[in-house]
Amino acid sequence: DDQLQRAQSLIRSIPDYPEPGVLFRDITPLLADAVALRAAIDAMIEPFTGTFDVVAGVEARGFLLAGAVAIAAGVGLVPIRKAGKLPRPAASVDYALEYGTATIEAHDEIHPGVNLLLVDDVLATGGTLQAAHSLVRELGGIVVGTSVLIELEALAGRALVGDVHAVFRA
Ligand code: 5GP
Repeated sequence: DDQLQRAQSLIRSIPDYPEPGVLFRDITPLLADAVALRAAIDAMIEPFTGTFDVVAGVEARGFLLAGAVAIAAGVGLVPIRKAGKLPRPAASVDYALEYGTATIEAHDEIHPGVNLLLVDDVLATGGTLQAAHSLVRELGGIVVGTSVLIELEALAGRALVGDVHAVFRA
């Protein structure tokens, strides 16, 4: 619809950021626009309405969306953070980056049987969301869905993460 088109038009593509050869999708103009933000958040939630008790956002840009999703859907919010940021991590998962590894952690508010919607801004190679899935499973949570604003189709992240709802594809 018109509002989602407006949202899409507010995603800026920045060449050579954060390094040469990368075309970075910058969502900050979309976030700054009330109509676009509302349309994008509603579209992230829509296929999963009524199926989840909590939303988990992946640090850092996932947090910006997860807070809005939580309020719009009437559910709670849990952060999935980079290593060392949470005071009492209950689980952690290491995953491979292009160079080296990273670790994500969560608290035990992700508890056995909780129905959880996983959100992030961009699905690229899928490594981050795959690790987030493992983390939720390690804590006994149930990922009822994975929702991203943008899927970078050429990077084939879907192969790692499985079924992902993407509002926009690039
Ligand atoms: P992946 O693990 O799927 O390769 O990378 C996904 C993570 O990198 C996401 O958490 C996302 O925030 C970030 N990311 C990768 N490419 C982009 C991009 O073009 N734009 C934005 N905003 N984030 C990106």
